[in-house]
Amino acid sequence: MDLSYILNEFAEERENYFNAVSPPIMQTSNFTFKTVAGLREAFTDEYASMLYSRGNNPTVDILRKKLAALDGAEDCLVFNSGAAAIFAAVLANVKVGDHIVSVDKPYTWAQKMFNDILPRFGVTTTYIDGTAIENFERAILPNTTVIYLESPNSWDYALQDLKAVAELAKAEGIVTIIDNSYCTPLYQKPIEMGIDLSMQTATKYISGHSDTLGGVLCGTHAMMKRIFNSEYLNIGSGIQPFNAWLLIRGLRTLPARLDRITVTTQKVAAWLKTHPRVEEIIFPFDADFPQYELAKRQMKGACGLLSFVMKAGTIGEIEKFCESLEHIFMAVSWGGHESLIIPKCSGIMPADFDAGNKEHRMLRLYTGLEDPEYLIRDLDQAFNKS
Ligand SMILES: *Cc1c(COP(=O)(O)O)cnc(C)c1O
Repeated sequence: MDLSYILNEFAEERENYFNAVSPPIMQTSNFTFKTVAGLREAFTDEYASMLYSRGNNPTVDILRKKLAALDGAEDCLVFNSGAAAIFAAVLANVKVGDHIVSVDKPYTWAQKMFNDILPRFGVTTTYIDGTAIENFERAILPNTTVIYLESPNSWDYALQDLKAVAELAKAEGIVTIIDNSYCTPLYQKPIEMGIDLSMQTATKYISGHSDTLGGVLCGTHAMMKRIFNSEYLNIGSGIQPFNAWLLIRGLRTLPARLDRITVTTQKVAAWLKTHPRVEEIIFPFDADFPQYELAKRQMKGACGLLSFVMKAGTIGEIEKFCESLEHIFMAVSWGGHESLIIPKCSGIMPADFDAGNKEHRMLRLYTGLEDPEYLIRDLDQAFNKS
């Protein structure tokens, strides 16, 4: 299916709503029935019915179909946040006594689930350096049911060889889940590489305007139906119709935004790389990135997020740099129109800052839709003040 077709036409039955270009927001909690038999049928298979909007909703349905097609997946569920999608995907595939192998330092709330919630139910997690396939082989136990991936990681961009991990997991009957937020399915298609469940936060690039949250989970029809009938309906974390509508709107311009951000990121990265105050840049499509070859092989593109290590002897210099930026905002999240910065040292107490530790001097920059020269001027004047 053509990308343009998916984003502009697929799953939109315009004749059902006055041929409007933009789909209606079906802002309803429930759906009516004319016959008892019809209601009975909906109770029997809610997954195939419009019964109650905690389950299915027509606006959400359009979004689900488009996102499944983008991922090359049979089916998709959309949650009210990326964290909810991660939680449902993992919860659906573990029971008491099971074991998870996860890459080091996955997204914060995945870590919190592995460290704080799942142990209460007898599920343990082993973290590994996912850059070498041998580490997966060594960590797998007889009770391992899930391998959790994030490629690239959204801070240090560490990658996993997705085809190799998928092959290993399939041979062992283990379910693979990936956080594909960095790439989106436009730049990486994990399902086509054999990964079972592809998750991405829709809050970032799919929304694109920093005005809604959402989370996407793609996989087989059977797996999505199973998750729908348990975790999705039970936790009640499905996306709301208005937010689904915002995400459909975001999808229309996703390729244009990623194209633009790709060019901007390259320009900003090249500038940063030669700046005297920058020790190193970390970006998967930078030729000096340790996994550059793998990145080129399994990703169609890289953009938006990049990290750099600032030359600084004190935490004050880094703070001054961030606070001197006039146009690049200091905030969490990314994927919107606005460029953002977040210094690693915001997560540590000033007394613990160690200038000898490269990680303490790391900053993550997200380049949005502004002109590259505008961003470079802002970074330059902030370096000069710090
Ligand atoms: C933001 C983010 C998430 C979580 O998404 P929410 O929509 O904020 O819940 C998951 N993974 C990565 C890599 C993220 O950046």
